[in-house]
Amino acid sequence: MKRFLFLDRDGVLNRRLTNDYVKSPEELEILPGVPEALASLRPHFERILVISNQQGIGKGLMTAADLEGIHRVMARELAEAGGQIDDFICCPDRAEKKDNCRKPSAAMALEARKRYPEIRFENTWMIGDTAGDIAFARNLGMHAIMIGEEDIPPELESYHRGRYPELIDFARAFLAEVDKNHNTQA
Ligand SMILES: [Mg+2]
Repeated sequence: MKRFLFLDRDGVLNRRLTNDYVKSPEELEILPGVPEALASLRPHFERILVISNQQGIGKGLMTAADLEGIHRVMARELAEAGGQIDDFICCPDRAEKKDNCRKPSAAMALEARKRYPEIRFENTWMIGDTAGDIAFARNLGMHAIMIGEEDIPPELESYHRGRYPELIDFARAFLAEVDKNHNTQA
């Protein structure tokens, strides 16, 4: 079975700024354990994509080019550790915009499948740190993993398949599970 991994960005890969946006590479702080986590997950996923709401663009606080610059730095840092990201899909819309592309809308998932037609949502793990991420996963029938301590509605709390303090904790649990299944089959 081919697996796919969708990662939220802020709060999962890098430190989330309170009431602010990462607007330049200088403001980007990759969270501890993330490079190792991605390197260990990489062999188990056909595609790894970052799926991110970035309304700082819609608000005029940064440009799409600024965002690309941040992602170049991020991708390089993670690839150097062995955790190559295949692509970044972002929604620049403001939350107030009608019919916006932001999670939990399906827009970015559909864009991902357009770029990579092999993607199957039922074999996709969506990892996020907010209710919007888990609702997005649920809307598309993906496996959901919650990172951090944010409170989310009970129906979303019961939808996800596990809550972990950090991405590295998920990676360890996932690899242990893969190992166990492999040993059972052998
Ligand atoms: Mg987030």
